Amino acid sequence: MKRAILIGAGVIGSAIALELARAGFDITVVDKGAGAGQGSTSSSSAVIRFNYSTYDSVALAWESFHCWKNWQDHLGIDLPAYTRLFDVGVIMMDAPVISTTKTAALFGKVGVPFAIWSPQELAVHAPGIDTGRYWPPKPVTSEEFWEEASENIGAIFTPQGGYVDDPQLAAENLAEAAQANGAKFLFKSSVTKIIKDGNRVIGVEINGNKVLTVDVVINAAGPWSTKINELAGAGSDFTIGLRPMRQEVHQVDSPKNLLPGPIVGDIDLGIYMRSTPNGSTLVGGTEPECDPLEWVDDLEQVNMIRTQERFEAQVTRAARRLPALQIPNSPLGVVGVYDVSADWTPIYDRTDVDGFYVAIGTSGNQFKNAPVVGQLMAHLITEIESGKDHDNDPVIFNGVRTGNLINLGAFSRKRPFNSESTNSVMG
Ligand SMILES: Cc1cc2nc3c(=O)[nH]c(=O)nc-3n(C[C@H](O)[C@H](O)[C@H](O)COP(=O)(O)OP(=O)(O)OC[C@H]3O[C@@H](n4cnc5c(N)ncnc54)[C@H](O)[C@@H]3O)c2cc1C
Repeated sequence: MKRAILIGAGVIGSAIALELARAGFDITVVDKGAGAGQGSTSSSSAVIRFNYSTYDSVALAWESFHCWKNWQDHLGIDLPAYTRLFDVGVIMMDAPVISTTKTAALFGKVGVPFAIWSPQELAVHAPGIDTGRYWPPKPVTSEEFWEEASENIGAIFTPQGGYVDDPQLAAENLAEAAQANGAKFLFKSSVTKIIKDGNRVIGVEINGNKVLTVDVVINAAGPWSTKINELAGAGSDFTIGLRPMRQEVHQVDSPKNLLPGPIVGDIDLGIYMRSTPNGSTLVGGTEPECDPLEWVDDLEQVNMIRTQERFEAQVTRAARRLPALQIPNSPLGVVGVYDVSADWTPIYDRTDVDGFYVAIGTSGNQFKNAPVVGQLMAHLITEIESGKDHDNDPVIFNGVRTGNLINLGAFSRKRPFNSESTNSVMG
């Protein structure tokens, strides 16, 4: 039986632990936190959508949706509490960087049901929405922001998709299912060293003293992923760079006529909006060029307090799109950190260090994919440890719930930069 250490018990790490345990690995998950899902997963908006810029990413999201939809079946165990999928649908507003025609072609190929709405249809289906075209996004402090729209935009709508109500509970569910299949979890335990024999990982040091010997190590450390790569001496052959980025998501009361509204992705104004079961709306950003990006150099020094500036930028944009929105006086919401890859597409791959694997660069958009990331990583690791040359002959993953084939070369550390990327959280 192969021994594996997985670093990070977020939603991604816990999902991989479940599938490696199912695949017969002797798996130990190590996390410096006190429980599963307490890292960046805990602040996730947990939006489930299918709008991505490549076939493999759309297929991955569509396959994963079916796992959320059949969550108890996916986990395979009885638990006292399960996270829930709210299948409210997704409206993606038109914007030059996210072509509706191209998205429609990808949806057609993958099998995602959708409708294309004209501005008039959008106004009918989403009462209370302002269909004005404001592209490109402007600073909310500028006069241009308040200029009248010169034309109207439509949207592409998927009746399926929505959100998961409790992202941390999702990670806990996966961790409990992994434990039921034999995985062990060590919490309050920091990986301080990765030990190698030549170019192969052979062990991991925990809390500066205890050493566990292993056959494979998986880095699922979220925003800390680059630090873990450095411990392994991996990363020199990556064509895709990684960097953490600070984010804020704000919460406001929902206009009553939009309840229990679909998700609204709105690159035209630079935001996304997500309803909640209790009648409020979460508002996040889509990295509009006019706003400064908050790259993080020191993860221990991130300001975890929401700022008035971000609150006003995001909520004022939301109120432009939904004029009935009540803007509260003070910010409510969360601060979180993305592990951003250069093209906003994750890296699910081996590395140049034998036995050292990565599930990183999740770029603020991979919560939704976690259940299938677990499966594809278990498949990838099993294939490579059996001698497959994935770098030259990419492993193909067969999505059992949709029948789609996913080329894992699309998530290679050595892939060409995804030039179709929106260069934002939309991927
Ligand atoms: C504000 C925000 C909103 C988001 N919204 C969405 C969304 O709407 N839809 C979507 O699909 N995705 C979304 N995402 C992205 C998604 O939540 C993340 O991609 C996902 O949660 C990452 O999970 P992870 O397991 O990789 O990382 P994490 O949850 O960060 O887990 C990494 C773990 O590694 C542990 N760790 C780090 N270093 C060490 C060490 N040395 N030793 C031991 N343990 C270590 C940490 O304690 C942590 O628990 C959002 C993210 C954020 C921050």
